[in-house]
Amino acid sequence: MQRIYPTSLTPEQYVQQDYHKQVKAPENCPNCGAAHTLEALCYYHRYVTWLTAVLIISVRRFLCRKCLVSVSCLPAFAQPYRAINTATVAAGFSGQTRTREVQHWGTAIASYWQRFEDHLPVLLRQVGNAFGPVPLQPKARDFWRQLLEHCGGLANATGQLVHQFHTCLFGTYRCHQRRQLQAA
Ligand SMILES: [Zn+2]
Repeated sequence: MQRIYPTSLTPEQYVQQDYHKQVKAPENCPNCGAAHTLEALCYYHRYVTWLTAVLIISVRRFLCRKCLVSVSCLPAFAQPYRAINTATVAAGFSGQTRTREVQHWGTAIASYWQRFEDHLPVLLRQVGNAFGPVPLQPKARDFWRQLLEHCGGLANATGQLVHQFHTCLFGTYRCHQRRQLQAA
């Protein structure tokens, strides 16, 4: 499972402060709901951009003692399975093409948008009217606006999509789904 947690740190500050070592376990296991059952497991490493650079960050993983599912805690500046950081993706999706990082990562951002458009029908089936009324012929542009209005930003929106609807803008992934309790 994955949790997205809000942070005011930039990717660069997260790396410089070794912040991955300070990430606290969620109170409740997002898989089975049990309280205080998550213990530190390990880290995994992944890429995230900062301005025009690419950083490698360590992401904290916990293991639930009760259901034995691992839970990774992704800082909200990173998108699930996508290297371009959340703020840059949001700027690109909102057409802020003048910033240097949006220009630099323009090709990747365009491919993310394509992915989002392709995923939209499935996404809308999952979220229904949660972010606003769904028109008969939904458009990615309109849903993007609804999402920003409703959530105030992509970081918060991603948290809601992952935690409540077990999906994100770009696809539905196994790590966002609940698992059965493993047989004892
Ligand atoms: Zn659990």
